[in-house]
Formats: sequence, C-alpha cells, structure tokens
Amino acid sequence: MASQTMKLEGVRFIVTMDPERRIIRDGTVVIDGQRIAEVGKATDLQHVTADRTIDAREMVLTPGFCNGHMHISYAHATRGIFPDDIGNQYLPNVFRLQAVMTPEEEYHTSLLGITELLKYGTTCFLDPGSTKHLHATMEAYEQSGCRIMVGAHVTDQPNPINLPVYTTDQAISLMAQTIEGYNNRLEGRVQAWAMPFSSDFCSSELLQAAKELSDQHNTGLTLHQGGSASSVNNHMQKHGKRPIQYLEDQGVLGPRTLLAHVIGIDDAEIDSMARTDTKTVMCPTAALKGASGTTLQGKLPEMLDRGVCVALGTDAGNNANLIETMRSMYLAAIIYKDARQDPTAVPAETALEMATINGARAFGLDGDIGSIEVGKKADLVLFDTRRAEWRTLFNPVNNLVYNADGRSVHTVIVDGRVVVEDHKPTFVDEWELIQKVQAIGEDMLSRTGVSFPGRWPVA
Ligand SMILES: [Zn+2]
Repeated sequence: MASQTMKLEGVRFIVTMDPERRIIRDGTVVIDGQRIAEVGKATDLQHVTADRTIDAREMVLTPGFCNGHMHISYAHATRGIFPDDIGNQYLPNVFRLQAVMTPEEEYHTSLLGITELLKYGTTCFLDPGSTKHLHATMEAYEQSGCRIMVGAHVTDQPNPINLPVYTTDQAISLMAQTIEGYNNRLEGRVQAWAMPFSSDFCSSELLQAAKELSDQHNTGLTLHQGGSASSVNNHMQKHGKRPIQYLEDQGVLGPRTLLAHVIGIDDAEIDSMARTDTKTVMCPTAALKGASGTTLQGKLPEMLDRGVCVALGTDAGNNANLIETMRSMYLAAIIYKDARQDPTAVPAETALEMATINGARAFGLDGDIGSIEVGKKADLVLFDTRRAEWRTLFNPVNNLVYNADGRSVHTVIVDGRVVVEDHKPTFVDEWELIQKVQAIGEDMLSRTGVSFPGRWPVA
C-alpha cells in the first residue's frame, strides 16, 4: 500500500532550522509517510497533490521541540502538592509515592504527561529512567505516537532520596535488560539509554559499565549532574576532583553522554565537556523554582561560546511544575541577559536552536529530527498566529521565543502522524484521562499517607 501523503500549504513562515537557518515565507511542506518529501515556496509546489492538505496560511511551522530531561511517569498524579519552600525534600516523597504506583496507574499518568507535552509542541523527550513499569507505559507511547528516550535509572550506593540501592551487578544487568528490551521499539520511536542516576550515588564501576553499555549498543547515556555545593565537596573529598573532571577521568564523557542540569560548574569542567563533545541539557524552569542559583553560577553563555551542545529540558511536573519546553526556551533567552546585564547573552535564535536542533543532537537523532529538511522525519508543529499574542508578526523567531507559548500550538505531527489537531489530542479523550489521573492521585496520597496541606485554609 502506498504511504499517506500530506501537504502543509502556504505556510506564512517555515522556520526550517536547516544548516543555513532559512526561514521560508509562504512555503509548503509535503510529507510522504513518516518523512518530509518537499520543502519550498508554495508557488513552486502548487502542482503537488496529497491525500490530505492543511491550509497553513496564517501559521508558523517549526520542527517539533525536544525536551532533554523530563520525568514523564510519576508527577501528574500528585502535581502541585509540594510547598515551594520544600527544597530537595520533595525527592524522597516523590520516590515514596512512585514506589506504590501500579502498572495501570503509571500508564495513565504517563499518558497525561505525554498529552501535555504533545499539545504544547514537544514531540521528542527523554525520561531520565524514572519509569517503573516500562512494559505498561509502552502502551502510552504507542497510543500517543510520541518519540521518547527511556531507561532504568540505577544506583548502587546509599542515597537520601529513597532510590532503591542495587548491587553493582544487579544495576548493570537492569540497565542492559532495559536497553536490550526496549531500544528501537515502535518503529524506532523509542530509544533506550544507559541511565546511572548520578555520580553521587553510583560507584565508578557502575558508571564505567553504563558507558560500556551505551558504546556497545550505540545508544546514549544520561545522568543527573546538578553541581550543587555538596556534590562538588563530596567529589573533591572522595576523588580529589570536581564532578565533571571525575567523569572524564572515568571515561564516562563522550558524544553520546548527556549531562543534565550542569549548573555549578567551572571553566575546567566546560573544557572537559568541549574536549569530549559531551552533550548537556539545562532545565531553567526547575532550576529557577528550585533556588539552584542558575542565574548566579550557571554558565550557559560560556558553554555555548566553547561550542558545547546545550539542549533544553524542564525536569518533572512535581519540581519544575512547568513541563513545557517553550517556557524553558523563553527562560534560556532571558535569564542570562538580566543576570549578566548584557542584552547580547543567548539570542532568541540560539534559544530556538537549543529547543530543536541541539536537542536532536543531544539525543543522537539529528540525522532524523530537529529541523525541517527533505528526508527527515515529519516531526512538526504548526502555530496558529490568528491570536493576540502572536501579533503583529514580522519576525517569527522573536515572536515564537518572546511572545508565544504552547497555547497557540494548533497541529502537531510526529513521524508523519497527526497527534494534535485544532489544539486537541487525537489519541485520547483528554478530560476523561484527567479525571482518571485525579482519582489515581487521591488514591496514592491515601495509600502512602503523604500529605502537604496548602498554607491557606480550604473552606
Ligand atoms: Zn531529573
């Protein structure tokens, strides 16, 4: 059977993110099956017919956004319960709650997280290994059509955040089984990575084994690399080195290694990352709310200057609360301007690169996604600009980064499949799902006894 063709016709601006960063005015994109078949001026592609045509004359088209750090499975059921002064004490509670989740509950909560991401334009994201029942959540990935990196986060050292402590051998075989069981599933939309939790809670043996697994399977490796003062002190005391230099010494850095958060780092650590082409992901939504000091000590401008690939993430719906990649893009573009009192810091174009093509590079998927080019996968977002926040419209990049947000996302396509149409998900009844997850959250709170009453009386 011939594959389905689709035509996005007369797009007001196509922000291609191709190597020349072309923006095509009044353009058309033709999709054949899962891939982009044509990109050009509408007048040049008028003759092309397709099974389905979308009139995109008042739309802006971008590649799907990539979120490089987003705990997809557990937060939605109990979102917003933690007071904003809780600090890192949310973590033991998060994992205590998650420990009681059934496969069916995790399927529903994952599906709601994915629904939110897709609706606001994030087509590809990385769950840093915190999904417990992958066999159940695979159904949510299949149903929604998202593109996702999964894994099993592991530790082999005692930790204060209630993560299960495995023996080193158990941890290695859990990572190996996860990669072997899930990598390249769902026509390649699912990639499985090695995910040691962090160098604070993993032995050097475990970190090195994770890197070997990622090399062996030609897949990625990610870990939390927060760079908090206590983590840096710990590494200095135990290893005589700062965390990222320690990782380089252990042979853990490299082009397929993705360090998450990277806030409290120094210039020598940036050198380590640049030298090894190590990828990074920053989560400004989580960092700002979590009082991480990202405006004071974050080194995004310096990393970009040194050519380090920096992608964007959000972290979870229970710490950042915000999981929209576009909000992280906005924050990446503004916070360093203010912190450094320098309007040239992180231009809008750079922030958009971070959210699209850099994200794709961080995933090792830039041959397939991250830009709108012939031959790439059709992972695309159409923004409806018939809205006050989009107008007036002259510079689509400025409007996208500084004015708009995910609410104007009209249509989302992943792998050639329309997953959001006229602002609504096509794969689920959203309200029914929300009610289901609300009930799951109420039940989880009563099963665990976790309770954080709000500061104001509820009458
Ligand atoms: Zn995380």
